[in-house]
Amino acid sequence: MATPNPIRVTVWNEGLHELKNEAVQKIYPDGIHNAIAAFLQAAGFATRTATLRQPEHGLTQEVLDTTDVLIWWGHLAHGEVEDAIVDRVQQRVLAGMGLVVLHSGHHSKIFKRLMGTSGDLRWREADEKERIWVIEPAHPIAEGLPEYFELQPEEMYGERFDIPAPETLVLVSWFEGGEVFRSGCCYQRGSGKVFYFRPGHETYPTYYQPLVQQVIINGVKWAYTRTPVAPRVVAVKEFMK
Ligand code: ZN
Repeated sequence: MATPNPIRVTVWNEGLHELKNEAVQKIYPDGIHNAIAAFLQAAGFATRTATLRQPEHGLTQEVLDTTDVLIWWGHLAHGEVEDAIVDRVQQRVLAGMGLVVLHSGHHSKIFKRLMGTSGDLRWREADEKERIWVIEPAHPIAEGLPEYFELQPEEMYGERFDIPAPETLVLVSWFEGGEVFRSGCCYQRGSGKVFYFRPGHETYPTYYQPLVQQVIINGVKWAYTRTPVAPRVVAVKEFMK
């Protein structure tokens, strides 16, 4: 029995592959968002979900104001995410909400906005083995992980991944085809923390893998800011004495 945890997590998924692709439906009959929400709930987080086709993509101001950490999975429809919602999520991150961006979320508007880069990378779908190396074992996101773990099959993502140099790089992937990739990247943006985690191609059962779940659980805990300080402008008229 997990101990109760006050961290409020919203799992956002565009939720379109699950409607269009039978192979994905088989793996994630209730959607990727519910598969992720289930293990987070079991870990004791207060968890809910939101999807693209809901009004305001399920990310109303009220939802975001009561979200400590937002998880983002998207792929087919990054362009359908309204800019006003991207602005809203960005403001919440700057004010202290954590953001965990998964897999193809590297091309999401919100990730590109927060990184200031294209998020471009190399990729290949060839049912390859991925070996994920934990290169910062003392980092909170590495808690409980072995030196490395493997996923097979997974999609290959390779460098160069167009991101700013991570403030901390926790995980590096190697693929059977020879490529390497920065798989677990940490950033601070304003008062909010951002964690990018690579695995999770929709046609593979990656989010049922216990060590993948462990990384996401650790990522949520790390991205949570207990006492966020929203940015503000302060006009200071007098010298301090
Ligand atoms: Zn993919």
